[in-house]
Amino acid sequence: MSLWFVESASSGHKLEWKIRREVYSTQSAFQHIRVVETEQFGMALILDGIMQTTMGDEFIYHEMLAFVPLLSHPAPKRVLIIGGGDGGLSREVLKVPGVEHVVMVEIDPIVVDVAKRYFPHHTESLNDSRLHIVFEDGAAFLKSQAHTPEKFDVILVDSTDPEGDGPGQFLYTSAFHADVKNALNPGGIYVQHTGAPFYNPEVLGMVTEDVGKKFPLCQTYWATVPTYPGGIFTFTAGSLGPDLSQPIRTLPCETQWYTPDIHRLAFALPPYLKNLIRTEIKATR
Ligand code: SAM
Repeated sequence: MSLWFVESASSGHKLEWKIRREVYSTQSAFQHIRVVETEQFGMALILDGIMQTTMGDEFIYHEMLAFVPLLSHPAPKRVLIIGGGDGGLSREVLKVPGVEHVVMVEIDPIVVDVAKRYFPHHTESLNDSRLHIVFEDGAAFLKSQAHTPEKFDVILVDSTDPEGDGPGQFLYTSAFHADVKNALNPGGIYVQHTGAPFYNPEVLGMVTEDVGKKFPLCQTYWATVPTYPGGIFTFTAGSLGPDLSQPIRTLPCETQWYTPDIHRLAFALPPYLKNLIRTEIKATR
């Protein structure tokens, strides 16, 4: 009898992955952690029953979350990653010329251990001397940052979704956005994923409304990630200066998804998305 992993995108839509092999599962202090080998996308990490990353398409999400902000910033030396325990995002961030210091604040050390064991491609840069891993809640880390001179040029939030009572909820609040802004250097950029607009438009609305009030520039871009519900996945940025829609630097290495054209096109929002953002912003008021 075939084994399938089923994730409900909504009460009316489910995604199913055929499982070739059940690899690992445990309950950590923060969440349920499961690793399966899927037939279509290879090894996959599932947290609290939600698909997080797969070998088959992780490069789309990680390249778009890393390169769009980092290649829009004139000289990003210091980067903060909140979440990102699977290692895929820091792998891409460390490819960008001029990046000198990366801090990854991950709440769950077991996720990093599991990623090292079962996702070697994701974690190939976790021993880079420029990378410093801190095991702490990202919201608490940023609060403590307010009392230090340590600031960042780019802050990337690669967390679990805000839905439910998981640890990701603390990273989708107005207080968190204020702390992010305080932790940025002048001309700094912050990006957070705002999920699947066909299923959770309220997340996009809330973040765009709040970031739009706090930052001089708030921009949303999108990419298609096959293993995320509905395929279309959004990222929302707050900028203290740079316009993220125009790449100003290039990458000296091969990519699988990101190109300067893909970068520019990602900011061409279909009318459906523009209207959705407007409607959701109104709904949050
Ligand atoms: N790309 C995935 C997505 O978009 O759904 C995210 C993958 S990454 C594995 C998510 C990480 O965020 C997890 O390792 C989780 O432990 C971490 N995380 C969730 N809430 C956090 C918090 N408040 N502070 C720090 N890390 C957190």
